[in-house]
Amino acid sequence: MKLAIFNELRLGVLRGDDALVDVTAALPQWDNGYAANWWLRLCHDFAELRPRLERAAAEGQPVPLSQVRLRAPVLYPSKIIAAASNYGAHREEMRGRFTPAGSWLGEFDVFLKAPSSIIGPGDTIVLPEVGDREIHHESELAFVIGRGGKDIPVERALDHVLGYTILIDVTVRGAGDRSRRKSYDTFTPIGPYLVTADEIGDPHALRIELWVNDQKRQDVNSGEMLTKIPEMIAYASQVMTLCPGDVFTTGSPAGVGQIHDGDTLVTQISKIGRMTNHVKAGGR
Ligand code: MN
Repeated sequence: MKLAIFNELRLGVLRGDDALVDVTAALPQWDNGYAANWWLRLCHDFAELRPRLERAAAEGQPVPLSQVRLRAPVLYPSKIIAAASNYGAHREEMRGRFTPAGSWLGEFDVFLKAPSSIIGPGDTIVLPEVGDREIHHESELAFVIGRGGKDIPVERALDHVLGYTILIDVTVRGAGDRSRRKSYDTFTPIGPYLVTADEIGDPHALRIELWVNDQKRQDVNSGEMLTKIPEMIAYASQVMTLCPGDVFTTGSPAGVGQIHDGDTLVTQISKIGRMTNHVKAGGR
């Protein structure tokens, strides 16, 4: 099932490649604490809700995607957890250029991006004024946490993944803390849909591609990830409780590069879809 959030935060289910059905009315009227955020409740209880969403999607009237505005397929995540240095060739391209030899920055770990940096498909990345620093794209496979928990064992980690999506981890290179360099407003495009885990199968067999102005910059198979998704869930959940709806992005493959005012980015991951974002200069 492909879930979409569209227009004024309505829930859609994709019908074919170019239409969706509005299934918002099929959501229950919740009366507990999660009611304030229907999306987080949906993530927490998706297995229970799925049959009624499927029924609504089958019976409803499809609307062409061209007639709706797709939003990021996540809402109010408590955090965006991001894997760093998770592809060998990307580690190498950073080493010496942006990561000093021997620096901890070249090792696998997780860091946080501000959820306020999220934008949706079709939205515009606004570049801050950063002097002679470079601002780069990083095209990544991301996933959304379903039920979540603490100290999740590797063997059960994939049970906590609701679905997969595309995320661009926009980054100011150079010195300074990652959490600041990657958290400027608009620095986290996510979309176009959240594809449930059952439709993805093996998340380590997906092709990730990114083009800037029709020139291909990144093209890799997610199987080349150094630390795989179950291990990264287990690792992060030893530190912080993974909450329903949390976004987890798996790190950039090689081929990162600068983005500039006027650029158009297209990112594609097999079995998920394709997302377009524009770039413009903002200023201070
Ligand atoms: Mn990244």
